[in-house]
Parts: sequence; structure tokens; C-alpha cells
Amino acid sequence: MHGLNDTRSQTHVLKPMSAVDARMQALDAKIHTVVEDPTNQLEFIELSRRDHSYSKGVSHLFDMALSYMEDAEIGNQNGKPAVWTTGLMEAPLIYACGTVPMAVYDLGRLGSAEGAAEVSEDLFDMPKETCSMVTALLGEWYMRRNHSVKKVVALSTVCEPLNMAYEMINEYGFDIHRVDQVIKPVHGGEERFEQMVKYLTGELEEVAVFLTGKPLDQAKMSLEIARMNRLMAKFRQIIKMRVDNPLYIKSLPMLFLLMGSGHYFGKPEEYEGLLDDLIEELENAEFVASPLGKIIPLTWVGARGLEFGVFKAVDDLGGALLSWFTPNPYDRVWREDIPPLEAMARFILDYFVTGSPVNQLKYIEKMIEETGSKGMFFYTYIGCPYGGLHVELFRDYFQKKGVPSSGLEGSWQVGAPSGQLTTRVRAFIEMLS
Ligand code: SF4
Repeated sequence: MHGLNDTRSQTHVLKPMSAVDARMQALDAKIHTVVEDPTNQLEFIELSRRDHSYSKGVSHLFDMALSYMEDAEIGNQNGKPAVWTTGLMEAPLIYACGTVPMAVYDLGRLGSAEGAAEVSEDLFDMPKETCSMVTALLGEWYMRRNHSVKKVVALSTVCEPLNMAYEMINEYGFDIHRVDQVIKPVHGGEERFEQMVKYLTGELEEVAVFLTGKPLDQAKMSLEIARMNRLMAKFRQIIKMRVDNPLYIKSLPMLFLLMGSGHYFGKPEEYEGLLDDLIEELENAEFVASPLGKIIPLTWVGARGLEFGVFKAVDDLGGALLSWFTPNPYDRVWREDIPPLEAMARFILDYFVTGSPVNQLKYIEKMIEETGSKGMFFYTYIGCPYGGLHVELFRDYFQKKGVPSSGLEGSWQVGAPSGQLTTRVRAFIEMLS
């Protein structure tokens, strides 16, 4: 079992003493700060840690999440390369290049989004209607420009504001490598699709050269793909076991476990050990009852959200988020019977951000069925045209199928969620109770 002490002994070996001491001291101070009415990300985490005091695995998970960015930055300064990426599906390629992926999207989740957004608005003259996530990320990068990792692998996605943000940080010394991404066609036939796979494979090949100065070690990447498949099988096992004991691992730690599935918090072996520990805990766990007596199984669709109070509201009312259709495709399997870069290109093209949401309906249906979900939350960020359109399409489809849903529009902000959001969550769960 990996507890906090195990984590410390591992970092003790890897890091210079002074840096480790300072970090662990700061972590200890954070750990002892538990408030009843949390108002920021760290307080929500510590409250959740206390709510899970029976689980060493959950505590270990929060330790990994809290130390992820800082450890990667310290490692980078000490010669262990790291790179900013989406942290969603590039892990096998980045790890095969001996590099730690630092998830751009997770930066704001534990960062200083409020301050970052202000810096960004002043410095880049961001219009108010810009997606709050892009605004905050620009500010975070700017504030880290002198002491953090400077390499960026930027997967050009459907999101033009984010693509522009990469251009804007260029002038602050960030070394950006763009991967031009193609989009899976709904129509157009096999031939067109194969051309896209070929193009994207070539683009991904260039990432290895950018990171290491030489061609990819294919054998190494094949091992990393096998690792990803092994870990995601364990992740799916946890998802399955939660159906019988939904509240043993509640919503917030599940969100973090989900995010870690894309980058392992920079520590693949430790993340795998964590998954093993959680499986073992779930095998022997006593049933955790809902505070209100009844448990309502639910599915979460869309962005992963930054307002942790929304997840707390779900838990408090006996809701259980049992499946997650988010940018982390834990339900997919990487092919191991073809060259690794081609496997990656095919995996990306099958992934929902890079194609019509119509392609994904069957996966969401499967999740609902497997977890017996009674309803769905659709979560998008204010100002995101893509998320909004995807969700409208999903909602319309599932409404016709008779699956109730509630749309939540949040913002990329730290702190407590708006009262309006939590009211919607409560009203929806009460309706299903
Ligand atoms: S929330 Fe939407 S607009 Fe904002 S970065 Fe993501 S895809 Fe782009």
C-alpha cells in the first residue's frame, strides 16, 4: 500500500534534500488545513481527504496530484526533461522520449486561476468574451515564464482560441512544436481516412525529433502503449467496482484519478501502484452509505470542470458519478498489432475532440448502460462554442431516448461554484430521487 510516507521516501531518493524538504513542509502545511466550508481548490481537496480517511489510496492520490507540477519542474531543472502537452492521450509517445508530460489543462486546476486571468487580461488585452480557460492558461504560463518548463508540444485541436494562445506565449521564450491535427470525417470513405492516419503519423514522428533530437525508439513506445492499455484496464476495473460501492471513492478523487489516467502525474510506476491499491481496497471495502440513504447513479459528460464544489454537491445529495465521458478516453484500447505511431494516430482520430460528436454517441450509451445511470450532467465552460454544440447534440439524442439530463455551464475559476450551479445540481438529483 502506498501512503504518504511511501511517497516521501521515493521523492527522498530522487530529489535534492533542500527542494524536497521545502516541498514536503509546504505539503504538510496544506494537509493540516481542513475547513468545513471550503472556498478554494486546496480546501476542497483536504475536506475530501478527510471524508475518505478510511482510504490510504485516496490520500496517496491527492498527494500525487498536489506534487505533480512541482516535481516535474524540479525534475526538469535537475536534468529529467519535461514538456507541456494536453496530458490526455500523448503519454506513450512522450514517456517513450524519456520526457515527463505536464498537462496544460491541469495547470489551472490547481493553479492560481483568478490571478492568472487578471494578468492575462492586462497583458494580452484579452476580450471579455474569450473562453475563461484560455485566458487563465495564458496568465499561468506568463507567470511561469522564468522558472518553469519551456518546451510545449501543442496538438492543434478544434479549438482556435487555444491554438492562438500557443502563438501568444511564443514571444515569452516558450519553444512551441505544433502537431497539425486532422479531423476524422463522418463520411468520405476508407481511403480518405487512411490518408489522414498517414499524415498524422508523420506529424507525431516529428514530436520525437523535437524532444530528443533523434527518431523515435519504436520498441520503447510499444512498451509504453502496452503500459497504457494495462493501466486503463485497471482503471476500468475501478469504474466497474464502484457500481457496487459507489461512494467509497467519491466524485472529487475520481476526477483526479481520471486526470491522472492521461499522464500518470509524471510517475507511471507509482500511478500503477495506486490503481492496484485502490482495487485491493475496493475488494475488501465496507459499503459506504449515502448521507441521505439513497444513491443515484449518474454519468458526467463534457469538460471535467474546475469548480470542485459541484462535485461535493453531487456527493452530499447521494449522487454518484459512476461514468465519465470527458477528454480522458479511458474506455478505449490502443492497438498493439501495428506500428506504435500509427496506433497513436488511429487512437487520436477515434477520439471525440477531433471529430463529429455523432461518432461518440455509442460510447456514452455503453457507459450509461454499464453503470445503470439514471441521469446525466452535461458540463461546458462559458464561452466555449465547441463544448456547447457537442452537448446540445448529445442532449437532444438522449432526451429522445428518455434519459434525463441537466446542463451545467461553469467557468474556469478557482473557488466555490456559483450558487446557480449548485442549485441546478440539487434540483436535478432531488428530481431523480
Ligand atoms: S473550453 Fe472550449 S474554447 Fe475553451 S479552450 Fe476548451 S475547447 Fe477551447
